[in-house]
Amino acid sequence: MTNEREATIIEQVHTGVCIGGEWRAASTGRSFAVVDPATEQKLTDVADAGSEDALAALEVADSTQASWAAVPPRERGEILRRAFELLNARADEIAMLITLEMGKPLAEARGEVTYGAEFFRWFAEEAVRSHGEYRVAPDGASRFLTMKQPVGPSLLITPWNFPLAMGTRKIGAALAAGCTCILKPAQQTPLTSLLLADVLTEAGLPSGVLSVLPTSDAGAISEPLMSDRRMRKVSFTGSTGVGRILLRQAADNIMRSSMELGGNAPFLVFADADLDAAVDGAMVAKMRNGGESCVAANRFFVQAEVAEEFTRRLAERMAGMSVGPGTQEGVTVGPLIDEKQQDKVVELVDDAIGRGASVVTGGGKAEGAGYFYNPTVLRGVTTDARMQREEVFGPVAPVYEFTTEEEALAAANDTEYGLVGYVYTSDLKRGFRVSEGLETGMVGLNRGLVSNPAAPFGGVKASGLGREGGFEGIEEYQITKYVGLDV
Ligand code: ADP
Repeated sequence: MTNEREATIIEQVHTGVCIGGEWRAASTGRSFAVVDPATEQKLTDVADAGSEDALAALEVADSTQASWAAVPPRERGEILRRAFELLNARADEIAMLITLEMGKPLAEARGEVTYGAEFFRWFAEEAVRSHGEYRVAPDGASRFLTMKQPVGPSLLITPWNFPLAMGTRKIGAALAAGCTCILKPAQQTPLTSLLLADVLTEAGLPSGVLSVLPTSDAGAISEPLMSDRRMRKVSFTGSTGVGRILLRQAADNIMRSSMELGGNAPFLVFADADLDAAVDGAMVAKMRNGGESCVAANRFFVQAEVAEEFTRRLAERMAGMSVGPGTQEGVTVGPLIDEKQQDKVVELVDDAIGRGASVVTGGGKAEGAGYFYNPTVLRGVTTDARMQREEVFGPVAPVYEFTTEEEALAAANDTEYGLVGYVYTSDLKRGFRVSEGLETGMVGLNRGLVSNPAAPFGGVKASGLGREGGFEGIEEYQITKYVGLDV
């Protein structure tokens, strides 16, 4: 049950389909329920968009593309800047909405609003700093001008784990570059994206530039769009499996693609590390968002000399966390997103235990309503355990021991994924060596948090293609055109 304040926040959200800023009923005539993962109760119903809505959104995106691209960069930036301010002004209310539909504790949801809004500030600044070059041909006979132009209408598909920030990270870059866009949020968490559409309208975004399509049938939206030549770009954050499907579809249409996919992050602790800092970093890398993050530390490799001590301290901290509904004061671990995710965590932990791992703390789901799982530390997880290869996406920390740096690096890289790796050491040379040796797009060196709107976020190997945020983020939505000229 929601209380009065929570009910008011939900009632304020438009629950229709947003086509270029206009609100409509879904063409399917259907709706679907959004559920609070802490109570398993319905929060509200939302319009269930289908392929007709998708094509209507594309029609609007395509016909608005030229006029949006012609809006001066400063004006585009100012819209983003106003949206940044509006998000911060409404931070408490938006944080509550995130907590209600996604489950994370309110303090973390508040953090997500700050982080998510920051993408708009960053890209407001990037919008006016994006330019081409004047080059001299090597033989001196001609000159090259390069210019950056928007790639065109962009399809943005986001996951449920950061309902605000995954949207702003894509929308901010797309709008700054001058692209119109269609956002398809995750089925579990459409409310924050619908509210975001309203915030952008209030910030002055012209009609036609952004559509938001909530749906229970992702394929009904993505398939017609991915095969339409007017759709020029797809940016996806989610599982590697769905990323592969989208890349296959993008191949047929030769569509620009950015893919932020799964991770299996190693967290390396060397015996020379500052152990207090390593445990603090481990808690952030593991437990931010309850472990439901693609950058969550999934495998802890600890040098034998400090393995006992590190595990003891980590387990103490994990056991001291307070599991409960994110709306409750003092709660530090909310529920998992749904029953499917809860079942997966149960399966992976049971599989590891069945193969010989021992439980240091936790090891089971919490009883009662809500998709809760207790913070867990495991030791002696065998190399054939599924959690060595699969993302847990939950509050589970398996600790493995190693002896040499070479062995640690080989184990860390022994995965199809390559999003981020964390390294704790006091040896500067080792820190750089291991950072260079990790097959990942990002490294946290004596740091458990790498996400920052001003830094290029992204992976290698099966973790994806392209970068979001940083100077690189806007380029994902731009083409470089070159003009050759005689002088
Ligand atoms: P998760 O398993 O974490 O939910 P998914 O990759 O399934 O991750 O979901 C991420 C996003 O991809 C969500 O918005 C989801 O609706 C969307 N999605 C799922 N299947 C497809 C598909 N076949 N085509 C396009 N988008 C999809």
